[in-house]
Amino acid sequence: MKSGSLKNIKNAKQLHERGLISEERIEGIEEVASRFSLSITNEMADLIEEGDDPIARQFVPSVKELNVTEDELADPIGDNARSPVKGIVHRYPDRCLFMPMTVCPVYCRFCFRREKVGSAESGLSRKELEAAFAYIESTPQIWEVILTGGDPLFMKPNLMKRIISRLSSIDHVDVIRLHTRVPVVDPKRVNGEMLKALNTDKALYVVLHANHVREFSKEAKKTIAKLVDSGIPMLSQSVLLKGINDDPAALENLFRELVRNRVKPYYLHHGDFAKGTSHFRTTIEEGRNLMKKIRGKVSGLCQPTYALDIPGGYGKAPINPDYLSEDEDGSYVVEDYRGVKHRYPQSPRQAP
Ligand code: SF4
Repeated sequence: MKSGSLKNIKNAKQLHERGLISEERIEGIEEVASRFSLSITNEMADLIEEGDDPIARQFVPSVKELNVTEDELADPIGDNARSPVKGIVHRYPDRCLFMPMTVCPVYCRFCFRREKVGSAESGLSRKELEAAFAYIESTPQIWEVILTGGDPLFMKPNLMKRIISRLSSIDHVDVIRLHTRVPVVDPKRVNGEMLKALNTDKALYVVLHANHVREFSKEAKKTIAKLVDSGIPMLSQSVLLKGINDDPAALENLFRELVRNRVKPYYLHHGDFAKGTSHFRTTIEEGRNLMKKIRGKVSGLCQPTYALDIPGGYGKAPINPDYLSEDEDGSYVVEDYRGVKHRYPQSPRQAP
């Protein structure tokens, strides 16, 4: 639905004015939006062809979000339990998350930080930012800093520049990583000034969050190319989402599109237990079956690790399907991509 020069969509009335919801849905969506933030960029609104297509389902609120199940949590991956200072989550010894701000250009309806993002308190104050830098500077085991949030590429280039140059000045920090959705949802934001701000002699990676091939507009592809051409390696993370990408063709198309655009698929996340998101969650069995279906059919380059975050802040666990089992005689049985089982090694070795 073409928007012309309209501003980003921020409320139910605007959704209706842009033809994205019927009048009857306004009241319900107002209630959802009073609970969880709402924003849709023009770029994403322009890609919506039908009210329940894979783009609409990711960004247009649904009253289903008011259904909070017993197993859902305000902090589903346990960020708070692992936060030594505001804006830092230190879960693994050699890396930490750094969240200078909690705003995004879009609010994904399945976001695992939906209780935090888009709140009135949008980022760290100058003093809090200093405390976060001080924590990283005084913790020599931190080798990698992951800027996330909120969307780090949503910040102003001059703040990004300050953050990248300060992190780059810390001897023990070798790697800076940015987790972002901006190159697809708000591609023009990655302008020359932002590219300059990302310039560093440390290894800097950009990890793109994308869930469906239709997110790759012409502008998005150009922006990804700009990032890669400026020497930034790109990886991706996607969320397995019921009704959006939970079929082999949708995943295959997404992963091929990422690789075609020089982005290596890195993680496929199993849906977290964020409040009001049960309508998006698949079972782990469904996720593993999907991974099995694309194995062999799609180049290894196109295959991410299927993983879940352990509630409570214990980190990620890979949950890829198993292809190897041990037999009673101590040898292995290994399954090929067609599902045919083979003994490994093929015959017992002869004693010399
Ligand atoms: S862009 Fe990321 S942090 Fe922002 S709402 Fe979407 S999933 Fe959450």
